[in-house]
Order: sequence, then structure tokens, then C-alpha cells
Amino acid sequence: MYEQLLSLKSEAQKMIDSCNDNNALQEIKVAILGKKGQLTQISKALGQLSAEERPKMGQAVNETKQVIENLIDEKMTCLNESMLANQLKEEQIDITLPGRRFTVGTQHILTQVTEQMEEIFLSLGYQVAEGPQVETDYYNFEALNLPPDHPARDMQDSFYFSDSILLRTQTSPVQARTMEKMTPNLPVKVVCPGVVYRRDDDATHSPMFHQMEGLYLDRKVTLADLKGTLLAFARQMFGEEREVRLRPSYFPFTEPSAEVDISCFVCGGKGCRLCKQTGWIEILGSGMVHPNVLRMSGYDPEEVSGFAFGMGIERIAMLKYGIKDMRLLFENDVRFLAQF
Ligand SMILES: [Zn+2]
Repeated sequence: MYEQLLSLKSEAQKMIDSCNDNNALQEIKVAILGKKGQLTQISKALGQLSAEERPKMGQAVNETKQVIENLIDEKMTCLNESMLANQLKEEQIDITLPGRRFTVGTQHILTQVTEQMEEIFLSLGYQVAEGPQVETDYYNFEALNLPPDHPARDMQDSFYFSDSILLRTQTSPVQARTMEKMTPNLPVKVVCPGVVYRRDDDATHSPMFHQMEGLYLDRKVTLADLKGTLLAFARQMFGEEREVRLRPSYFPFTEPSAEVDISCFVCGGKGCRLCKQTGWIEILGSGMVHPNVLRMSGYDPEEVSGFAFGMGIERIAMLKYGIKDMRLLFENDVRFLAQF
């Protein structure tokens, strides 16, 4: 038995020495020390020995086991170290390579245009007001002189959460909320930029888009004030030579109402493709605040007057930067967005 142990020890030594990968080493370990391994088999034979021999041989078996385990552990450490060294050699970092550049983003074109517009109105003494995108029917329609069953509601079909809760179709409810909060203080001078929702989807309409509406209430505000304000806006936004023209129109919350055109900034009014040969480009809707709207917000229409206007921010951005398809603004293609 003692010879068996000696020869197993030297055999193991040879196998471990010549082994050069982790898997093979594991196999050797199992073959010698495993449940059915050679050393285990030998130790099972201990029971057949005499009581005198047993402790001696038992000790010899344990010593052999210890020696072989140590050999395996040393080999494993050695293999792991050389593997790591190899990896490091392969993955050497070339510190002379130039670093990766971070690309710095810019504001989205719509954010830029919104801020330009806000700045123009801030310089005219307006404040910026915001409100909820999920609105009640009351603020989105009724407070703006659009009672239930008013036919103009059809032009602004929206997304409803319930009969009386919807995604706002315009930023006008922010005006209604502002008037309510301000009553009876004067003047009220706000612009309300924000996201609005409608059931439209084509090259010039999106189910989600941005509007900026403005409201000015005070004593003795006239249509001339409206025209002057819009002229100042048009000139700062589209160039000092711009003129504005008001065309009669209809909105439920203003009376009288007007569509507002600016003189074409491409041809200067002579007629071109952009202005469809008319010399004029429509940019917004406006009018004098309807007496009913004033009354609903607690102002006396005999005392107080004012004007309101609203425009699509996408339309302003598309005109200013010559963008043909509104959907480009929402596709988030960096090649498009990086131009601005
Ligand atoms: Zn033109």
C-alpha cells in the first residue's frame, strides 16, 4: 500500500507538472482526489489493515493527499497568473491614440424658437405663463365662449380621458386661468407657450404641436395696439422691413377676429413660391377678446378691453428656417437637428 501511495504521488507530480490549462488540472484533481479517485480508492482499503498498521498508513494517505492538493493549488495559481499576463499583453492600451470626443448637443430647434419668441414678448412687458396639458372641458372650451354643441368644437377634436377631461387643444385655457386668477387686477399681459393636441396628422399638421398665445387686457386697449404689437413681433422675428396686414376672420373667443399676415421675407412682397405669389404669409390668428370671455373671467366688458393672439410655434420655425415637413421636427434625426 505504501508503494501504491508513492507511485501515485510521483505520477500525480508528473501529470500536474506537464498540465498547462485549468480544465485539464480540474480533471486531474477529480481523477485522484474525487469520490472515485485513485487516492480515495486507496484510503478505502485502510479498513482491511490490522489495527496496528492502520494509523500509520492513515497518516501516510493524509500526507499524500496534502502533498497532491498543494501541488494542484500551486499549479492553479501559476496558471491563473500566466493567463492574466497573456490577457494584459493582448489588451495593451495604446495611450498615444487620440481620445474619443464627446459631441455636445444643442437645444432643439423648437425650444430655440420658443425662447426667441418669449424674449420678444418679455421685451414688450409680457410675462410667460404655463398651465396643465390635461385640461377640463370648462377651461379648454366653455370659458372661451365655446359652450357644448358649439360647431367650432369640431375644428378642434381632441383626445378625451372622460366627458369633461381632455388633452388641451390650444393654450387658451392658460389665458382663461390667468384672467381668473388676476381679476380684477389690470393690466393682464401674458404669453402662454406650450404643447397642445389635436386629431390631425399630415405634412403640416401633427397630433401634438406647440402654440404660443398672448393676452393683453387693460382699459382702452384697441385694435391699433394689437396691430402695433404684432408688427413689433414680426419685425424682430422676421426682419425690420416686415409689414403686417389683418384680414377679417372668425374665432369664438374674439370679436372682431383677424388672421394676420406678414409681408413675405423672401421676395419682399413682389410674389414668390413661398408666399404663393401673393406677397403675404399668414402667421397667426388674433382678435379683440369677446365680451362673453371677459364676463366669464369676472371683468366688465364696459370697462376693460383687450386682445388675444395665437400662433403655432412649428409654423414660425418652419417659415423662419425654410423647413418643408413638420414631421422632421419630431423625428429626432440628429442630422436634421444638428443644422440649427
Ligand atoms: Zn414671397
